[in-house]
Formats: sequence, C-alpha cells, structure tokens
Amino acid sequence: MLSSAAHDSRRLPVRIIEVSPRDGLQHEAVFVPTARKIALINALSRTGVAEIEAGSFVSPAAIPQLADSDEVFRAIDRIPGVTYSALVPNERGFERARAAAVKKIAVFTAASDSFAIHNIKATVSESLARFRPIVLAAKRDGMLVRGYISTAVFCPYEGRISPMPVLDVMMRLLDLGVDEVSLGETIGKASPSEIRALLDLLLTRIEPARLSLHVHDTYGMAIANVLTAWWDYGITAFDCSAGGLGGCPYAPGASGNVATEDVVFALKASGALVPVDEKLVVHCAQQLSVLVRHPLNSRFSRIQEDRATQPTVKV
Ligand code: MG
Repeated sequence: MLSSAAHDSRRLPVRIIEVSPRDGLQHEAVFVPTARKIALINALSRTGVAEIEAGSFVSPAAIPQLADSDEVFRAIDRIPGVTYSALVPNERGFERARAAAVKKIAVFTAASDSFAIHNIKATVSESLARFRPIVLAAKRDGMLVRGYISTAVFCPYEGRISPMPVLDVMMRLLDLGVDEVSLGETIGKASPSEIRALLDLLLTRIEPARLSLHVHDTYGMAIANVLTAWWDYGITAFDCSAGGLGGCPYAPGASGNVATEDVVFALKASGALVPVDEKLVVHCAQQLSVLVRHPLNSRFSRIQEDRATQPTVKV
C-alpha cells in the first residue's frame, strides 16, 4: 500500500457502521420487543453513525430474534444521511426487504467452506451462485449491496486463512456487482501483522473506500487492528456495535463485536475525522444493556463511570 494513498484516504470522514440491532441482537437469548428495537435504532440514528444494520430477512425460524425486521424497517425514522441496511440470504428475503423499502442489502459468505457450510449451509461457491440473482435484482432496483466475507483471517474450523482465498472471494463478489466488501475477522484473534498481510494483497485490487473492517475483540486486538487499517491503509469504514454487543459464538464468555464508542474514541484520539458522539453511543449501549438484561463492556463507558466515582484525593 502506498503511504500517500493511505494519507489521502485518512483525511476522509470515517464511516461507522453500527451493527448492534442486527449482529448484536441476533446473538442474544431474549427477544427484544419491536417497539424497543425501533426506539434503539432511532436513538442510534442521532449519534452520527453513517449506517445502521437495522435487521435481517433470514428465516424467522432460524433467527427468531429478528423475525420482526419488516415491521422495524417500516416504523423507524429514516434520518437523511444515515443508511439503513439489512441482511438478505436468498430471493425470498430479498422480496421482504424490497417490500419494506430497504435501500441497502448485505449478502454474506466466507473465505472458508467449513464456516460457510456451518453458517449458511452452502459452500462459498454455492453461496455466491445463490447471490447472483439477488445482487442483479438489487442493482436493478437501485439498491446498494454490501458483501460480507467472514473468516477473513481465522476460521474456527480451519484455523489461519491466507489472504489469497479472501482475495478470490472478494473478486467474485465484485464481479457479481457488490458496491462494497466487509472483511469479517470472525473469531477476533488476528493481529495487526495479519491485517497488514491481508490488506497488502486486497488493496492491489480494490480501493480502500470500498472496504470495511468488521473486527471482534475476543483477544483484545480489535482497536489495534482498526487503527492499523486506518493509519497504514486508509480504511475509513468500520463495523462496530454499541457496548460491544454481539458475543462470540466461537469463544463463549468472550467479548464480541468491537464497541462503537471505543472505536470512535481511538480514531478521534489518533486524529481521524469521526462525526460520531461517543457519549450518545454510550447512552444507546446503556439502553441496550437493559434490553438484553446483562452488562455490556466497553472501555470507554467504564472510564466514564470510573471518573464519576473517583475520590478527589491528590498525591
Ligand atoms: Mg460481528
């Protein structure tokens, strides 16, 4: 990656893609009532995030937590400047998304067959064949399309994934017509050196503005990876979740998605232009914690609390 290109890209505002209403809630045991989801999305809309993944049109039997996505999309306030996206697994899901006036959809595959078979019951090639008519129909209707690549660095079944198969899947998604690609670091184990190896290869074939990084914080590496992608490569889109909601199904008890407020703080502290109010995000995370009935853990929110309770003793 040319450092001058990264330097130019770093001047662009960072786009935060808030995934708690979808990626976060789908891992929770409780069903959050529809009206509460709508209120949450409306509150997130006013934090400054660029995009909210507001639902999923997968089978309600497969993910009952998001069975009400049609209703959610019909009722939320759509704030100008904020994009509201939804996951779409198949043509039936696409028709539901279209009926709910969704303007941006996401299709999802992986860099490893084992994960794809486990997660979506199809090989990577089968999933891409399944997406073809969906992406065509979406583009015909003027929708934007995101393509997710899970296991972009590690697979819970196959271990380390080299950058080459990720490049192959990315090129096939671009050939289908997706507008952007989100790289899913599924188990949260990657180090900055592995993120570098991946981006060194991918950015020979795609501009940084079309990539998003979706990292998890299982091993505490998420912020380091975000800063590496932004500073060294000019990546300016990051998927994250208020309060770090999301869990990690492959590491029980571990933290999941990187917390939005931590990403915003770290990027701003490093000089990035991030038009998001991290304190408003913390308020949303506090609401979320009540809805899912367990504490959420972001570093930023803990520090806010600590400050309020610190004794005023000077040494
Ligand atoms: Mg995630």
